Amino acid sequence: MKLSEHLATPSEAALSHSNKLDGLRLSPHFSLGELTKSKYAEVENIPSRVAIENLTRVCTWLEELRFRYNLRYVLAHVSHVSQEEEPIIINSGYRSPELNRKVGGAANSNHLTGCAVDIRCYGIEQALRYAVILMDISDESKEVFDELLIEKHGSTIWLHFAVRPPTQVNRRKIGFLKA
Ligand SMILES: [Zn+2]
Repeated sequence: MKLSEHLATPSEAALSHSNKLDGLRLSPHFSLGELTKSKYAEVENIPSRVAIENLTRVCTWLEELRFRYNLRYVLAHVSHVSQEEEPIIINSGYRSPELNRKVGGAANSNHLTGCAVDIRCYGIEQALRYAVILMDISDESKEVFDELLIEKHGSTIWLHFAVRPPTQVNRRKIGFLKA
């Protein structure tokens, strides 16, 4: 499967972002609401058209990750009874400058441009599985990402994953960070 098969239409996405973030799909399984949510309801977090395009690009990777993860680890698993697909859960996607400050994000964070997402992981095993799949996707599609970082704070683990537009440098930075 090619990454571009998961693409939504950014122009369509950009049209109505100001009023209906929740219902707006960036791809079959991810909505703009999920990629702009935060626990600080009072902080405005409306992405620009360009940021929505960047989020949409990241979603093409998330769709392929979701597809492969379920195929490899959920649906094919002998002890798996329900045959229900597992979702990929996003803890944080786009952040306005104010929100980024509030959550203590880096000043040049890829979250500010809608190029990064933090994917919830139930432990190091799941984080590693996600990471391996994302590296496989990059190798096979010959498309590059900017950051693939397993991050840990206390007992909470997430995967920070960033893809910048092809016109910018994607550094393929891979690492483990302990906050
Ligand atoms: Zn992050």
